[in-house]
Amino acid sequence: ANDEKKLHIAMFPWLAFGHMIPYLELAKLIASKGHLISFISTPRNIDRLPKIPPTLASLINFVKLPLPHVQNLPDNAEATSDVPLNLVPFLKRSYDALQDSVTRFLEDSHPDWLLHDFCPYWLPPIARKLGIPSAFFSIVSAAALCFLGTKAYFGERKSPEDFTVPPRWVPFPTTVAFRLFEVFKIFGQGITGVEDDVSDVYRFVDVLQGCDIVAVRGCVEFEPEWLRLLEDLNGKPVLPVGQLPTTAFDSEDDTDTWRWMKAWLDLQSKGSVVYVAFGSEALPSQTELTEIALGLEQSKLPFFWVLRTRKGPADTELIELPEGFEERTKERGVVCTSWAPQLKILAHESVGGFLTHSGWSSVVESLQFERPLILLTFYADQGINAKVLDEKKIGYLIPRKEQDGSFTRDSVAESLRLVTVEEEGKAYRDKAKEMKGLFGDRDSQDRYVNSFLGYLKTHLQSQKVE
Ligand code: UDP
Repeated sequence: ANDEKKLHIAMFPWLAFGHMIPYLELAKLIASKGHLISFISTPRNIDRLPKIPPTLASLINFVKLPLPHVQNLPDNAEATSDVPLNLVPFLKRSYDALQDSVTRFLEDSHPDWLLHDFCPYWLPPIARKLGIPSAFFSIVSAAALCFLGTKAYFGERKSPEDFTVPPRWVPFPTTVAFRLFEVFKIFGQGITGVEDDVSDVYRFVDVLQGCDIVAVRGCVEFEPEWLRLLEDLNGKPVLPVGQLPTTAFDSEDDTDTWRWMKAWLDLQSKGSVVYVAFGSEALPSQTELTEIALGLEQSKLPFFWVLRTRKGPADTELIELPEGFEERTKERGVVCTSWAPQLKILAHESVGGFLTHSGWSSVVESLQFERPLILLTFYADQGINAKVLDEKKIGYLIPRKEQDGSFTRDSVAESLRLVTVEEEGKAYRDKAKEMKGLFGDRDSQDRYVNSFLGYLKTHLQSQKVE
């Protein structure tokens, strides 16, 4: 009977597409087994999500909760991509103000399980009061969670300097030594210039402590040591749900934009192009941007660079490409200043490597298409992801200077060439191919979801018996 039991699972991701999309991927996988999903977000975000297959439409119920208005937040801003980084604390404030409407929804619909993100630190106690078991579903890797959610290491650090002073080594039960500077450069309130009501570290620590179980985007084959450590540190079940490779291309990407991009990529030879993108939020400084550009130029490799325009806190332009860069590289490079269909680009056979900020979705998407990784990190979980990938020789981390964390155009050029073309870097290209099984294999993903659902059902039954 346990096999047939259909669950109702509510999901409540943070208001960033880098979070909502993996939540939606998991929702689709769960719904494809016949379970019911209530996917909670704000109206505009739900309208902007990629379309779900019509066969799942009756099983995924989108719950639109209007975002309460808070001061300083533009009216139509509902996701991190709608605002400059310095306004994200206000987005968090309005997200926290969703507390009443989320509670009402849970009271009315009483789902079997609640899957929530790191942000709503107030939610686990509410779920407990309502008798709804809760899982913190983390879209960041187990390795990153060990740090982000471990108060002993980061919870007591308050000022941005606490996260930037180099070089300081964190003793940690692993072969990987992490330097704080690389891991947490300008983390939390430091990055935005505006103080958060509640720091991200506090949110991570609190939801990890409050939830019943932890579900992680990840797999045992990739990070067994970190999954185990996470379980030890928190004393509660940690369940990997697979890497959640994106399964569908957004049909709305079939636009003029994609057509010119494809036409350009079609002209390049197979495996020759470096795709460069730093996710939806990563913010290189002017100095860093200059080194990246000149490094790309120096590498002599064809490149496709997604560089969305960045505004500073006072709405001023923060960054500019080096003088004459676009002119000098126009024969072999493209700089795209709009949102790009990353998955489609990575799937194109001309792409031979990905220079990424190491956001976990970007990593998964790259390995899904067997593209080797060149890693350049900026903040939050990126440094940890990159360290782990670098240690496992799945990606190559561009070295930064010990003293100030800077990197040079030479190291950018050398790293790019090593991973994409040089003979000595062949191991990285081979490794990327090998990783496809873990990051892009449907059967393995399916096994993870089945075992996760099995756990959710069993846990529910044991609770009822108690
Ligand atoms: N993305 C995209 N086009 C862009 C920028 C980002 O499609 O121009 C997508 C990318 O494919 C990935 C997500 O946005 O799915 C970024 O997630 P990631 O975890 O890599 O980075 P984050 O934005 O969370 O730092």
